[in-house]
Amino acid sequence: MKTAIITGITGQDGAYLSQLLLKKGYRVIGFVRNSKGSSLTKLSYLRITDQIIFEECNLLDLVNIVGLLKRYKPDEIYNLAAQSSVKASFDQPIATIEFNIISVINLLEAIRLVDQKIKYYQASSSEMFGKVDDLPITENTPMHPLSPYAISKAAAHWIAINYRESYGIFTCCGILFNHESILRDKNFFTKKVINDSIEISRSQRGVLRVGNIDIRRDFGYAPRYVEAMWLMLQHPTPDDYIICSGKSIQLRQILHHIFKRLGIDQNKIIIDESLYRPTEIENIYGDNSKVKKVLGWEYTTDFFEVIDILIDEQLKYKTE
Ligand code: NDP
Repeated sequence: MKTAIITGITGQDGAYLSQLLLKKGYRVIGFVRNSKGSSLTKLSYLRITDQIIFEECNLLDLVNIVGLLKRYKPDEIYNLAAQSSVKASFDQPIATIEFNIISVINLLEAIRLVDQKIKYYQASSSEMFGKVDDLPITENTPMHPLSPYAISKAAAHWIAINYRESYGIFTCCGILFNHESILRDKNFFTKKVINDSIEISRSQRGVLRVGNIDIRRDFGYAPRYVEAMWLMLQHPTPDDYIICSGKSIQLRQILHHIFKRLGIDQNKIIIDESLYRPTEIENIYGDNSKVKKVLGWEYTTDFFEVIDILIDEQLKYKTE
């Protein structure tokens, strides 16, 4: 039986990745920041909480991590823990930079000290590219991060590559574009719009306030994206891969689709400039041909289909 450690197990991707690894017969160890305070809601939603071994771990404390790697002797570590919101990173730049970078170097130092055969997955982000001249984005596109979050992820990305190049440690970076599910935190665009729109359709809310909806993003479905994380660590050679749908959609189109599905009048949308970000990527989409060719990852799902799945799941959840 293989053992995997997942940091950030209480988040969206942590929950779906746990489900996938448990189905594959792994022993799953979940690192949580506070064994009493961490919310297990997402894991409970998937009904897998009792199959996971939880360990409190401070990822800013190397000694703590070293002790746990010695105890559990993992084959694979999936590092998903991060302050993951771009917006929050402008409010808390120092905490974001500190946690998202130091946690990565601590995990990799722990691997270097304890067992250099442990395979390591780093959750990198399309936000690292930021301001780009040429689309689609590939693994070789230069980075120009536009937020404290993006800067922290770019640093973490290069740290993971550096441990591969310096020490031969099996590190892979999955450069994921936006991916959504019912388990996404409610402050992220698609989830927020679905939640608020359901409330409008039930007369529990008057209007929907949104920021800049003219921007375009490459959106996908989280349960499918975690498969690519696992595939990366099964390949004989470590490498970095873009995981995306390959198409961008304007936020306005997503909003209109949700309003139409729920029968809401478009005049309930209020554009609120106070919700605009200090810097914003206008349009971004990636090229997923490397992950498809090298790892055999399949992805053809249209994002409007994903939205319909999420609306149905959320409607069912809200009435249960
Ligand atoms: P979530 O925000 O849902 O989950 C983040 C996880 O990190 C949670 O388990 C959270 O724990 C943990 N965490 C956050 N801050 C800290 C901290 N200071 N100390 C310890 N743990 C902390 O993120 P996702 O599941 O959506 O994303 C997983 C990873 O992939 C993240 O690194 C994210 O940046 C990255 N990513 C995500 C994308 C997406 O579209 N979802 C796109 C590209 C990259 P707690 O529950 O205790 O708060």
